[in-house]
Amino acid sequence: KLGNETVKAELGRAAWKVLHTTFARFPEKPTDDEKEALRSYVHLFQRLYPCGECAEHFSTVLEKYPPQVSSRSAAAMWGCMVHNIVNKRLHKPEFNCENIGDAYDCGVVRRARVLGA
Ligand code: FAD
Repeated sequence: KLGNETVKAELGRAAWKVLHTTFARFPEKPTDDEKEALRSYVHLFQRLYPCGECAEHFSTVLEKYPPQVSSRSAAAMWGCMVHNIVNKRLHKPEFNCENIGDAYDCGVVRRARVLGA
């Protein structure tokens, strides 16, 4: 059980990093094709995510909050917001989304700002 929890947490950290970094590097002015690519990516990410409980919950999040693909900042803010929904469910601290643009750059978390920290 502990092993499963550790694997789930490591998978989650890696997955969020890929997602947030992808949004941070998404074009400022995406083409229609790029917008569709990001939308498909997020939906397939949810569908194939290798933690059943997580995928199931994330599916309800996507239904309520479809991916925002109009620009880099819209995608990054959306990613931060849905991560905060998962944080809330897991009783983790809320991340301050105002700083999301500075937080992820080429996969390196430079300044991870957490409200109240
Ligand atoms: P994480 O939540 O993994 O965050 C990693 C780092 O990202 C943090 O240290 C911080 O620097 C930064 N960060 C935190 N919040 C934000 C934010 N809002 N925006 C940007 N950066 C932020 N686990 C479960 O047990 N049950 C689930 O149902 C579940 N569902 C998940 C669904 C998805 C789609 C994903 C990707 C993961 C899910 N997880 C779930 C895993 C869970 O979200 C965490 O990844 C895991 O618990 C490890 O948490 P952590 O405290 O190390 O930080």
